[in-house]
Amino acid sequence: MQFYSTNNRDLRVSLKEAVFNSLPADKGLYMPERVPSLDAYFIRNLPGLSFQEIAFTVAGAFVEEADIPANDLRRIVEDAIDFDAPVRLLDHETAVLELFHGPSLAFKDFGARFMSRVMAYLSTDDRVLDVLVATSGDTGGAVALGFLGVPGTRVTILYPEGKVSPIQESQLTTNGQNIRAIAVAGTFDDCQALVKTAFNDPELNKAFRLTSANSINIARLIPQAFYYFHAYAQLRAQGAEEVVFAVPSGNFGNIGAGLLAHKMGLPVRRFIAATNVNDTVPRFLRNGRYDPRPSVQTLANAMDVGNPSNWVRIMDLFGQDQSAVRQAVAAYAFTDTQTREAIQSMVDRYEYIACPHTAIAWLATQAYRREYPGDYATVFLSTAHPCKFPEVFGPRIAAQIAVPDQVRALEGREKAVVRLGVDFEGFKSYLLGTA
Ligand SMILES: *Cc1c(COP(=O)(O)O)cnc(C)c1O
Repeated sequence: MQFYSTNNRDLRVSLKEAVFNSLPADKGLYMPERVPSLDAYFIRNLPGLSFQEIAFTVAGAFVEEADIPANDLRRIVEDAIDFDAPVRLLDHETAVLELFHGPSLAFKDFGARFMSRVMAYLSTDDRVLDVLVATSGDTGGAVALGFLGVPGTRVTILYPEGKVSPIQESQLTTNGQNIRAIAVAGTFDDCQALVKTAFNDPELNKAFRLTSANSINIARLIPQAFYYFHAYAQLRAQGAEEVVFAVPSGNFGNIGAGLLAHKMGLPVRRFIAATNVNDTVPRFLRNGRYDPRPSVQTLANAMDVGNPSNWVRIMDLFGQDQSAVRQAVAAYAFTDTQTREAIQSMVDRYEYIACPHTAIAWLATQAYRREYPGDYATVFLSTAHPCKFPEVFGPRIAAQIAVPDQVRALEGREKAVVRLGVDFEGFKSYLLGTA
């Protein structure tokens, strides 16, 4: 299958090109040339299939034999998706889809693990693939752990010193092997600027085969469709007829993958986009004007996005038809005060501790039920484990958060980190010194 740019449908590239150069020159985003549809037999039989079988079928709809032969794709999928995405019922009409059981404890593991393996597989060059990534916390952990031990790759993570949480810092700095971390004496924007300048530097491009692990890479989007099918399978097995998914949204990649799954034939009654006060999309669905604003810092900081990069993909998926988007997607936005109250309400009602992003999705399910009463199951996606955001919880709740094995395993591990300033020359000479 080929991929086109959302800015020019006549520009077609191979999977390999789209994976290694994730941004088309015209600044659009890559989309599959057609949305593959999965047959009714597959959909009916979903409850009898394992997560890995489902993932393999969904991936195979985009990746043809000529791109990656089926046996190899199966190996990639089974290696990448080696942890579950369970649905837990909280009451007779509310369920949570937990996407935080991977190595970095956030849903970005699905995208990062699949992309890293596809990149390593498609790489025909003998030179090491050098992945440069700037992170404010969550993405870096998923990318680092996604590439950890993947042959032929090396990852350099830049993060702002002192501005990531202790668990995040451990995830970035204790890996060893093919992962190295640089603490930059500056902000996330400084880290991003260093990476961008490096990609445009002729000398570095000569010395290394550089690539980015950008969140808009098509190989991160496709695997995020897997768990919508798997969640639907689990809900059907538990007797649900109609399903509504609520998705905590920042760059809208996660919900975009859900909408892609829906277009492929997954029966979903409606999607709910849940945001914090960075409400560009909820405002757009209300008044029809796409009016991005600078992002505002909130408790759910992985969703602090003023101009969601994947929104153009969603409009493309719906042929730019605003009313079709509105029919498929409802949207609600919530403040930090509401988020804190929701965390407490969820403990009181279900004895369930949610991270702030997840709590916003739950709030959206409640708002949706008030607006559209009826007989259906609402499933909200839990995008991260609450232990990653300790500063959000009061001591009573914090004491009840179970520490996952992935975090225990980091305790006592030695941190290896290089400290650099914000100047490009310093970064460049460090890189050249490690050629
Ligand atoms: C990245 C992230 C989000 C936002 O996902 P998008 O695909 O950007 O909409 C939500 N929650 C958590 C915990 C995240 O890390």
